[in-house]
Amino acid sequence: MAGQREEIEATLDPSDWGEIRQLGHRVVDDVSDYLQTLRDLPVWRPIPEEVRRQFKSSVPRKPEGAAKAYEDFRSHVLPYPLGNHHPRFWGWVNGTGIPIAALAEMLAATINNNTWGGETSPILVERQVLEWLKELLGFPQEASGLLVSGGSMANLVGLAVAVDAKAGFDVAEEGLSAAPKRLVLYASEEVHSSVDKAVRLMGLGFSALRKIPVDDEFRIDISQLERAIASDRADGLHPFCVVGTAGTVNTGATDPLNQLADIAQREGMWFHVDGAFGALSALSPALKQLTSGMERADSLGFDLHKWMYLPSEAACTLVRDSEAHRRAFSTHAPYLSKQEGGVTGTENPFNQYGIQLTRSFKALKVWMSIKEYGSDKFAEIIEQNVEQARYLAGLIEESSHIELLAPVPLNLVNFRFVAPGMSEELLDTLNQTLLVRLQQSGVAVPSQRLIKGRFALCVANTNHRTRREDFDVLVREVEKIGLELLGESETNPSITESATKPRSTWEAPGRGVIGVKGLM
Ligand SMILES: *Cc1c(COP(=O)(O)O)cnc(C)c1O
Repeated sequence: MAGQREEIEATLDPSDWGEIRQLGHRVVDDVSDYLQTLRDLPVWRPIPEEVRRQFKSSVPRKPEGAAKAYEDFRSHVLPYPLGNHHPRFWGWVNGTGIPIAALAEMLAATINNNTWGGETSPILVERQVLEWLKELLGFPQEASGLLVSGGSMANLVGLAVAVDAKAGFDVAEEGLSAAPKRLVLYASEEVHSSVDKAVRLMGLGFSALRKIPVDDEFRIDISQLERAIASDRADGLHPFCVVGTAGTVNTGATDPLNQLADIAQREGMWFHVDGAFGALSALSPALKQLTSGMERADSLGFDLHKWMYLPSEAACTLVRDSEAHRRAFSTHAPYLSKQEGGVTGTENPFNQYGIQLTRSFKALKVWMSIKEYGSDKFAEIIEQNVEQARYLAGLIEESSHIELLAPVPLNLVNFRFVAPGMSEELLDTLNQTLLVRLQQSGVAVPSQRLIKGRFALCVANTNHRTRREDFDVLVREVEKIGLELLGESETNPSITESATKPRSTWEAPGRGVIGVKGLM
């Protein structure tokens, strides 16, 4: 046995540090080259069969080496990502990524800090990031906050506090089955599906979320909301929360947040705002008015991996009443208790404010990115994205082949290719095919939306690499593919049979939206 002790014991550290150093240098060189020339690559491409097959091999039992692992990444992974780092990606709502944040991810992984709590600088970094975000979004200093994985988690955390604070009985101890009256909450029918998911996960049931119709600009109809609350009260239910959206996922609409705050206040309800991307528009003095009232929210959820361009995952929940926040998540575990003077010598560890115990050090990429650029730079690019969306809307208005399907109050543009004499059903089919062909072309990636029942192509511009000329390219390509499809339909008459005239679901393209005009 004594002899064995002389051997070096097993570890996952390299036996040759020179090798990992060299590989690291190469990775950084490759990354810089790659990002510099990204514009010349296709936004997205289908995965070839032979590449797909590479992912079927069984687990390597013996070492293949770091260099080989990196080679496999380069050949089989790097060419086939979603593409949301590319200048012409505008699908769903996705952030672009920031080079220094990629380095920060490496640094965070290097110290591998479990950021649950404790007497550590990473905790101070996250606390400082939260202070900055409160300052930028007009939240009071006493408010609490937490970095989370994404907007979905941010909504879940905010709504969990809402239930705890407004249930009116000890929901932590008794559970929802003890509710004397069923808890119900309100949002517009444009609310994001993550709110449905949160409501379901908390055991409230999907039907507890009352979806209120929207006006012509896709904002919650206030009088219908008031009627729904009154009617639910009359039926013996317990309306406990209203959810407003700052920047809906379909059109970028923002609910009248001040009015929602007034209603919540009057009714004794919690006011949660889902500001996944829209909240960040408040960084811009020119756009700030759009989210007026957001700073009155009891809880606010927003992403940093959308309109702050950070690599996923990064989002935040802010809660006005920090005590209510802690009550909703605190549990007692002797192994985590505070020990004065030691590693756990700090108050209010983050695990008492959210679901996770082990937490990544995602605050570092936020902190380093804000330090590198300053928050004004983010405001500037957010404004630029809104201007670019207006520019695209202008190109569409000039085109005789493409029409807008919704107003453009922020950074989302919904549109479709149109052809005279085509029925709504055929237009839906034509535009579905067009979208797929466009994506396959590698030129640009918008995604789809359903706007008042009609299939739309949607550009969500949360991209700091996009230039105006990218939208010239997009419009040209959409027209080209659309006309090709029409040509094909001439040999396939079923596509042009219908005589219904194309009608626009939305007539006057929204111009002169408050605060935006000044940017143009
Ligand atoms: C994207 C989005 C969410 C969900 O955020 P994730 O980061 O994808 O979890 C919630 N609400 C809105 C309005 C969104 O756009």
